[in-house]
Amino acid sequence: MFRGVLIDKHEGQQTAAVQMLDEASLPEGEVTVRVAYSTLNYKDALALTGASPVVRRFPMVPGIDFAGTVVSSSNPAFQPGDAVVLNGWGVGEVHWGGLAELARVPAKWLIPLPPAFTPRQAMGIGTAGYTAALCVLALARQGVQPGQGPIVVTGANGGVGSVAVALLARRGYEVAAVTGRPQEAEFLRALGAKEIIDRAELSQPGKPLDKERWAGAVDVAGGQLLANVCAAMRYRGVVTACGLAAGMAWPATVAPFILRGVSLLGIDSVMAPLPDRLAAWQCLAEDLDPALLESLLREVTLDEVIALAPELLAGQVRGRLVVRVGAP
Ligand code: NAP
Repeated sequence: MFRGVLIDKHEGQQTAAVQMLDEASLPEGEVTVRVAYSTLNYKDALALTGASPVVRRFPMVPGIDFAGTVVSSSNPAFQPGDAVVLNGWGVGEVHWGGLAELARVPAKWLIPLPPAFTPRQAMGIGTAGYTAALCVLALARQGVQPGQGPIVVTGANGGVGSVAVALLARRGYEVAAVTGRPQEAEFLRALGAKEIIDRAELSQPGKPLDKERWAGAVDVAGGQLLANVCAAMRYRGVVTACGLAAGMAWPATVAPFILRGVSLLGIDSVMAPLPDRLAAWQCLAEDLDPALLESLLREVTLDEVIALAPELLAGQVRGRLVVRVGAP
């Protein structure tokens, strides 16, 4: 038996509780992992509260990522004792996830724990940080270089945003951090932000084309914010869109795309191919200062995550929540 969070649904009513689970209930998979740490991502909070239909199979152990040690493997790519990380692949949505002491998954979903990180640090980064790295690499791949103009990051105090600010600043970009919590400006400046922008400034309907401000963008918000960010991009600016914290729909026009050659790149971490994952973790290993990472982390236990989920959705959590699952 092992401890884990279980989400269930009966007669349309969703429940979530920490309980003892039977190993025989683990899903099919070649590799069984003893989970040391997981995280609480925005998507996990949606799953735990039922605010969005993230969970598509019940009962479900949530947790879209985990770091731990291989217990057994029928695939020669992994041996007992190997340290591994998993992000995405529908784990915590359609396949039991990381908020439990044991997980069982196909071998191809796992990557070796990057040597630069402990399991705690890797989950401190988590899917949010790994997604931030995917955005940063996409900007670079699209030709956005330091010195071409500021990069705007929305939701800068959140998981994706805070890691994006830190990575971009470390790579020499000038970062403009958009936040609904301007009182956290000092924290954002410590991460490397040059300019702090109150989210309210970008939340009202704006013009189809605004003053040219940014060479690149990492957007976790969607909604009106994404529309206003696109409208204020410089000529041939690049926007990476990865989130919907402000909303799924976005009231935009095509003006920035057809008149300024702005590009909008969608970023998906869940099904991203292995080479992109390895590149993102490499970027994190090279460019994320361990001391800064530590300043982003708040460690919580498995027993706290259910209560923390609504706080996270309300935008009250700063940085990253790392969940101690099986570590002492
Ligand atoms: P998080 O830690 O909860 O951060 C979200 C941040 O967004 C909040 O801290 C807040 O930052 C800002 N925010 C909250 N409500 C907002 C609103 N109404 N309008 C504008 N901004 C708002 O979540 P996260 O883990 O960073 O995830 C952020 C988004 O990215 C989520 O939508 C998540 O689903 C998405 N995501 C997507 C992928 C992918 O593969 N595409 C992967 C990971 C995450 P401030 O207080 O600084 O404004």
